[in-house]
Amino acid sequence: MNRLDLLYNHRYLKYNDCIAVLPILTGAQNPVLRSKTKPIEKVTKEIKKLLKDMEETAKSAEGVGIAAPQVGRSERVCLAMINGRSAPLINPEITWKSEETDVQQEGCLSLPGIWLLVPRATAIAVRYLDEKGQLQERMLKDWDARVTQHEVDHLDGILIVDYQPEEHQTDRETAQPAL
Ligand SMILES: [Zn+2]
Repeated sequence: MNRLDLLYNHRYLKYNDCIAVLPILTGAQNPVLRSKTKPIEKVTKEIKKLLKDMEETAKSAEGVGIAAPQVGRSERVCLAMINGRSAPLINPEITWKSEETDVQQEGCLSLPGIWLLVPRATAIAVRYLDEKGQLQERMLKDWDARVTQHEVDHLDGILIVDYQPEEHQTDRETAQPAL
């Protein structure tokens, strides 16, 4: 092994060491999943690390989004797949929702095996801080809007089972990504 290999391996190990896949909390009655999160005051190193770990956790579970309560945390932060990219949303608030809604099947990493038809606004505006602590406001539509509404719901202690009576719950029928 030459010097470059050593250097590369060292970096690689260090990179892997500092990112963790976190356990995902499950269950519609889990008190952490049912608690409203608290906005954070500053985007600290610790928050950035939490977001990295959450991203890795979502990736390893093949989820397209994840919210802090799902990994047992109470900060108002989540990740949502927007435009095919995992976007960190810090202190997100949905500031506008279209009157138009549609109904699509959703799953949730915290409710394994449950897939439900959930009505959502087809377009939203969301205001949040990015990783640099900059205030952003974006208009989202269709799937991006749906994923973001699902994740922001998590930050308010709301789960997909809240949208439907139990008798309408179905087993996993089609392969949809979990959020
Ligand atoms: Zn979920």
